[in-house]
Parts: sequence; structure tokens; C-alpha cells
Amino acid sequence: MSDLRLFNSLTRQIETFTPVHRGEARVYTCGPTVYNYPHIGNMRAYVFADVLGRTLSWQGYRLTHVINITDVGHLTDDADAGEDKLEKAAAANAQSIWDIARHYTQAFWADVKALNIRQPAEWSVATDYIGEMLDFARSIADKHCYQLDSGLYFDVSTVADYGKLARAVTEEGEGRIDAVEGKRNAADFAIWRTTPPGETRQMEWDSPWGRGAPGWHLECSVMGGKLLGFPFDIHTGGIDHREIHHPNEIAQNQAFCGCGGLDVPSHSGANIWMHNNFLVDRTGKMSKSSGEFLRLQLLLDRGYHPLAYRLMCLQAHYRSELEFSWEGLGAALTRLKRMVLLAAPLHAADKVDEMHPKFEPALSKFEDAVTDDLNTPIALTALEEALAMKKVDAGAKRAVIEKMDAVLGLGLLDLARTDLRIRPKDAQLSEDEIEDALTRRKAARAEKDFAASDAIRDELTAKGVEVMDGDPLGWEWKLG
Ligand code: AMP
Ligand code: ZN
Repeated sequence: MSDLRLFNSLTRQIETFTPVHRGEARVYTCGPTVYNYPHIGNMRAYVFADVLGRTLSWQGYRLTHVINITDVGHLTDDADAGEDKLEKAAAANAQSIWDIARHYTQAFWADVKALNIRQPAEWSVATDYIGEMLDFARSIADKHCYQLDSGLYFDVSTVADYGKLARAVTEEGEGRIDAVEGKRNAADFAIWRTTPPGETRQMEWDSPWGRGAPGWHLECSVMGGKLLGFPFDIHTGGIDHREIHHPNEIAQNQAFCGCGGLDVPSHSGANIWMHNNFLVDRTGKMSKSSGEFLRLQLLLDRGYHPLAYRLMCLQAHYRSELEFSWEGLGAALTRLKRMVLLAAPLHAADKVDEMHPKFEPALSKFEDAVTDDLNTPIALTALEEALAMKKVDAGAKRAVIEKMDAVLGLGLLDLARTDLRIRPKDAQLSEDEIEDALTRRKAARAEKDFAASDAIRDELTAKGVEVMDGDPLGWEWKLG
């Protein structure tokens, strides 16, 4: 199998993946902040991490994947300004933070499942690691931190090459809101945030720096190091994390490990840092607070199968921006339908282990694409070539499709054509009613009673159901 080559954001180069531990791959992915539902842009980050994990497994590595759940510390501004997102959501909903976190974690997991994202080895929850975070902070406090009234701050000038990942940090700390008085450098960040006198927070713990809560970046350093060991192989996140969260995480890791500059990538705590680009809508960056809130549930309510969205993600390279549109989602659904139709005859076939030589070109194109920094757009065309192959044994074809789909995760050997019907939540007719009307229409046509068959068709049209005689994809109807 070809070597796996991945783009390392830290070196801005494509590098060959060489595991830290022979035969193993250890991956950490920054998880969601569970103060609200994830939007589909957030889910793009986990589809990407999933494809990475699946590719590593496919290459034969024993994968340990950790995704964290942020339930403390993430402020409304990524720098140290604003309120804790969870405290704010809890106050707005008059609920406890724990209830808020539980509700949105479960909603996130439902989206993970719907998108065929594999379960990681561990979902590590930040508040389960407060003790470890305090130990970590204690170990770096003397050499790298200083205390202000508002908490303990990390002095970024104490580590070499601070901000190398972002490439854009100026002395003023570009893009930062220098909201905290007394910081030595604009880019310094909170390791521990002390609760202001007279205030109480729902989530606070005692510490040598006063009662308070950890800074947001601390949790990922702690859980990554604890669960995967420094240095581990790959750290992933969305491209926004390249600017603040990951440079800060890296600085903490350098301090904790006592290592030198970032000319040696492993000093950052991970050998490779990977970032997915954003999903955007026409208004620009996807947002949970403005415009149409694009949750996966909204796509489902409008009748789209969630895997059409997964396919939409795979159609773009993870490092390219992807624009969401309903037309684009519709096109992805049609493409998925075509694949599912071609895969349907394989469901019952017994897999043949030996590779049929006819499939070699498609398989090698697929492998080249996936190992070339996860080029899923090309890999999809290789999958389609294999699916379209005629006059081949179904068992042999099944083996190839199974292999490819292990990486892409479209569930082609499980999905039925009817699963992909557009099913809007507010449809006026149930599917059974539609099927029943179409059966009556078929009977009328068989008896050459065209008046009756047209009447049934008109009735369905009036209720938003388009009858599709002779559709090449074999659909008999769709909801308009
Ligand atoms: P958050 O819950 O805000 O911490 O974000 C969860 C993940 O989604 C992070 O890896 C973010 O970088 C990523 N992310 C946020 N917005 C988008 C977007 N529009 N497209 C892709 N990834 C995103
Ligand atoms: Zn993180």
C-alpha cells in the first residue's frame, strides 16, 4: 500500500505519515463546545476527522482516536474576553450547566451517528479532568505563568516560536482583543480564570490561584497528553483553531514537556497538525447565532437523508472551503441515489476475498487519492468507476465496494433506495398513502382507465407529490 501523505499545518508541507509507535496511530480531535446544537459546519470537522481515522485503520494502523467534549472554559470570544459559553447558556435557559451540557452532547452524538462518524476510543469530557488540569498548571506555573487578579496567565515569550502555527501573530497579537489589563504580551492567555469577588459561577473549583475555572486551551493539552502521550501522531480541528486555540495549546505543551522550538514539529505535542477548512453559506461564515441555523436536523426536517450531507462534504477536499446550498445538497442526494442503485444488487452477494484484476485500476486510483492528503473528491470518482463496472461477479464487486466504503463511510451496502426518498416533516401525505394511491393508479392504467389514472395523478400533484413515470433512477414519486 502507498505511503500516507498528509498536509501538516505546522510546517505547511505535505509529509509522509510515520507513526510514533510502530503499527499505531494516535489522533486527538478538538470536540464541540456543548452550549448549543452543532451546526453542519461543525459537523464537517468531524466528518473530516472520521475520514482520517478510517484511512489510518484502512492502512492497517491500530487507531486510538480521542475527541473531547468542552463543557467548561470556552469564552464567547476565543481570546480571553466575554463570558463562559456554558455559563451564559445556562443563565439564559434557567438550567444547570450540567443539564445544558448533557442535552447538547447528546444532540451532537445523534448527529455523529446519523453521519456515520465512527465512535472514537474516548469522548473525553473536560470537567472530568479538572484535577489533571490543576496538576498540569502547577507544573508550568513557576517558569511560564504569572498571576493577575483575574487569574493565572501564560507568558508566551517563555517558549520558542510562539504562534508558528498561525503564521500571523504580530507583536500586538493580531486579531486579539486585549481585554485583560496587566497582560505582559497581547497574546498571553488564561490558564486559570479566577472568579471575580462577589460573583459565583455554577462551575468553579479551588486552586492555588483562587477559586475559579480553567482556561479553555488547558483541557486539550491535558487530555491529549494524558490519553495519547506526548508526542502523539496527529491533532485535528477546524481552521479557526490554527489562529488561537492550537498555538496556545502548543505553547502549553512545550512548557509542560520542557522542549525547545518548533523547528522540531514533535515539540508541539503532536507530529502533525491538520485543519479542515470551513463550510460557509452565502452570508459568509456559518454561525449559530445569525441567519438560518443550519443544523443537521433542519436538513432532516426538509426530507434529506443525512448521508447526502456526508457526501457533500466528501465532494470537496477538506482543505478547501465548501459552500453550502440546498441545490448542492440536492445534487449530492441524487449522486448518492445513483450509487445506492448500483450497489443494491451487491447486498445479497457473498463477498469474494480475491481481488478481481478488472478492479485494479479503480482500486489503485482510489488508494492514490486517499493517500494523497485524503483526496476524497477523486476517491469518489474511483468508487463510481468500480460501481459502474459491468459483467463482473457481484461478490468480487462487493469486496471492492466494501473496501472503498470503509474509508468513505457512505453505508452503500446498507442503504436502500427508499431510504433516500425526500421526506419533509410537514408532508401532507404519508408514504403508505402515496404508495397506495400509486398502486390504484397502476391498476387503473392496466385496465386502460386513463381518466381514473390521471385523476389520481392530479390528486397527488395537488398534495405536493410529483409522479415520475420512467425516471432513470427508478423513482416513482417525489415530494415537491
Ligand atoms: P466549537 O463547537 O465551536 O468548538 O467547534 C467545533 C469544531 O467545528 C471545531 O473544530 C471548529 O474549528 C469547527 N468549525 C466551526 N465552524 C466551522 C465551519 N463553519 N466549518 C467547518 N468547521 C467549523
Ligand atoms: Zn481543543
